[in-house]
Amino acid sequence: MTADSKLENRLKIRGVWSNPGEAGKTAPEVSAFAQKLQDAHINLVAMCFKTGGGIHWPSRLFPQAVAEGYTEFDFPAVLVSECAKRGIRVHAWFIDFMESATGAAYHEHPEWAMRNPEGGTTASEALRGRTYHSVWMCPAQRPGYADQWLIPLMAEFAERYDVEAVHHDYIRYPGDLAPDRYCFCDYCLREIPRFAGHVTDAFPDRPFYHDQYDRPYIESHWEQSPRVLPPNWDVLPRAMKSRFLLEGSSFPGGRYDLDYFFYRYRTHAITRFAREAAEAVRAAKPGMLISAALFKNAVQSGRFIGQDWQTFGPWVDIAMPMDYRDHYPGDFDTYMILLAESIEQQKEWARDYRSLWPGFAINQLFRDAEPSPERFHRTVDCIRNTGVEGICLFSSGLLTRYDLWTDVREGFARDVEKD
Ligand SMILES: [Zn+2]
Repeated sequence: MTADSKLENRLKIRGVWSNPGEAGKTAPEVSAFAQKLQDAHINLVAMCFKTGGGIHWPSRLFPQAVAEGYTEFDFPAVLVSECAKRGIRVHAWFIDFMESATGAAYHEHPEWAMRNPEGGTTASEALRGRTYHSVWMCPAQRPGYADQWLIPLMAEFAERYDVEAVHHDYIRYPGDLAPDRYCFCDYCLREIPRFAGHVTDAFPDRPFYHDQYDRPYIESHWEQSPRVLPPNWDVLPRAMKSRFLLEGSSFPGGRYDLDYFFYRYRTHAITRFAREAAEAVRAAKPGMLISAALFKNAVQSGRFIGQDWQTFGPWVDIAMPMDYRDHYPGDFDTYMILLAESIEQQKEWARDYRSLWPGFAINQLFRDAEPSPERFHRTVDCIRNTGVEGICLFSSGLLTRYDLWTDVREGFARDVEKD
C-alpha cells in the first residue's frame, strides 16, 4: 500500500464494544440503542453476551448461568433484529477464561479453576492491594471448562442467533495477576511434562541418560529424550513441582531452561482452545466468523499471557488488537507514534487473518488531560491512516460518559460519505 492510498483510506468497519447494561432490557430500549449507533455511523457492535460469571441469553444448556432478567427477555434476538434493520453487524463478545468467584461455572466445578503453586485460585491473590475477585479457569484441562462449558455455550449461541461472529476476549492466561504463577492445577502438573515428552509411559523410571557424553555441551545430548523429572517427583508437594517446572533444567548440570516448555504448554492450550471453539462454532453455523480482542504485541503476549495470536489465523478470522493507550508508555504524542508503528507490526502478525480492525479505549485517551474531542479525532485519524479496514471503540458506555457521540458521528462522516 502506498502513502497516497493510505490517505485515501476509509474505515469500512466502524465498531464499538458494548455491555448489556448500555443497551437496555426492553425491546424499545434496545431499538433506541441500535438507533444511537446508526446515528453515530457505527456499523458493528461487539456485545458482551458472556461476562465474567453470567450469560445474557435464555440458554437451554446452562440456565443456571443466565444473568438476572435475561431468562424472560431474549436480548440477543432483539438486538440482532434491531441491528439488522440498520445494517449494523453484531459480534457476540465472550469473556473466555475469566469467571466470577460467585459464578455458576466455578460453583459447580471448582476443580476446573487455575491453581497457583500454593494450590490457590486467582481469587486467593491480591491486586493493587485488593482481593482479586475473579476466578480464572484452566484452559488446558480436558474434560474441563473449555470443552464442557465455554465451547458448548459458544456453539449454542452460534446455532441460535444470526450474528456475524463470535468474539473472543480473555482468550489467555491472567496478565495483571502474576503471569508466571498459572497454571499448576493437578491436571497441568501431570500434563506439562507429558506435553514436552519429559516422561514416558512405557519406562516411567528409566533415566535414559546418554551412553556417553562426547559432545562439547551437555545440551547437545538432548535428542534421545532423557527423563527430565527428578526421581523424587512423585513425593514432591505441588509448590516444589511447580518450581521445578518453571525454573528447573532439562539436564542435571544444564541450563535452567524448563520455562521454555512451560510457556509453550500455555500457548498450546490457548491456541488449541481457539481451534476447538472455531470447529464447534463453524459446525453449529456454517459461515459464521470468529473475531478476537487481542493484546498489542503477539510475541510478548505469547510469553506473558499464553496468547500467541500469530498462530490463531486458521481459527480466528478478524484480529481486533486492543491498542489502548495504557498499553503504551509515554505521553499522548508518543502514543500516536507508537500506535502507528505497532499497527504496522500487527499487519504482519495478522497476515493469516481475513481482517485487522484495531481498537482503542476512550477513557485512556484522557488519563493525563481534560477530556476533549481532539484526542479522539487524532486517534481515529492515526488508525485510519495506517490503511486498515476497520476500527473498534471501547466502549459505548465510555462514549456516553465522555459525551462523545456527536464527535463519533463527525469523526466517521468521511468514512460514510464514500459508501
Ligand atoms: Zn491447569
